[in-house]
Amino acid sequence: RAKSLGRGKICTYEPSMDEASRIRAELAIDLKRALAGDELELHYQVQNDTVSGGIVGFEALIRWNHPQKGRIPPDAFIPIAEETGLIIEIGDWVMRTACITAAQWRLPFKVAVNVAPMQLNHDLPRRVAEILKQTGLAPSRLEIELTESGIIADRQHALQVVLALKSIGVTVAMDDFGTGYSSLSTLQAFPFDKIKVDKSFIQAVETSAHAAAIVKATLLLGRSLNIPVLAEGVETTRHLDFLREEGCSSVQGYLFGRPMPVEIVNRMIDDEKASRPPATEMREAAM
Ligand code: C2E
Ligand code: MG
Ligand code: MG
Ligand code: MG
Repeated sequence: RAKSLGRGKICTYEPSMDEASRIRAELAIDLKRALAGDELELHYQVQNDTVSGGIVGFEALIRWNHPQKGRIPPDAFIPIAEETGLIIEIGDWVMRTACITAAQWRLPFKVAVNVAPMQLNHDLPRRVAEILKQTGLAPSRLEIELTESGIIADRQHALQVVLALKSIGVTVAMDDFGTGYSSLSTLQAFPFDKIKVDKSFIQAVETSAHAAAIVKATLLLGRSLNIPVLAEGVETTRHLDFLREEGCSSVQGYLFGRPMPVEIVNRMIDDEKASRPPATEMREAAM
């Protein structure tokens, strides 16, 4: 692109663009190795019921521990994984690992897994069904999170994928609601089981009357459509109070916990189980 500016033109950002693409190319090679080795890890962030405060599930979030560069955030490497097609293998790994982990939990919480746009075009329902079968996780305990960007390329096909996933018995959530290209028409066309309001709105509810109005309207919309709404990025008790007052179903954010390594989450679930009266257990077994 920089070249089209023409010979002799001074283009001060060209070297840094080269630098950026060199770093991307390097990361792409490293990512292949990461997948083969054990540099990738899933952390889990708790999701709570807004009213009772009880745990409802955990979202699996990928982490890359690069041997030289340290922890690389998903926003920095998921796009590269998508460009190189590696996201298909990574996505499979994430799905399988999350299902294996959740199948071992001593309480039947849900696990939410993020799915990248490209995965929708690679036989996602069949892969999910296979992984559920192999891991023994009940389909109803898996929630798949889709962002709108995964849907816009081919809405008709995306709809078929969502319907196929739902027919397996997994639930499907719309992630980052409100930041997409046309969130409302997507909501109209797709039978989502949950709406996740993007954290950018939640974090602005105190400082922006507009953000507060948008969150309120989304909660109202969810109620009218009979779709539960989860708020992400809940960091303060004031965020929580606001959401509670406005009738938000569930919440996720640093106020309740950061994404945590699997050992810590497992211990948390063990403690939760130990603290519950036996009667609760029987109800769960009957679920
Ligand atoms: P997301 O799915 O919307 O995940 C929520 C992000 O918000 C996570 O960032 C989480 O750590 C962060 N977060 C949670 N609570 C709070 C809070 O109270 N305050 C703030 N400031 N942030 C909070 P993370 O883990 O860096 O992931 C970023 C994005 O990367 C995710 O956004 C998702 O789109 C993508 N991603 C993560 N794991 C995977 C994966 O396994 N597969 C795919 N395809 N994408 C993934
Ligand atoms: Mg998500
Ligand atoms: Mg999100
Ligand atoms: Mg996001």
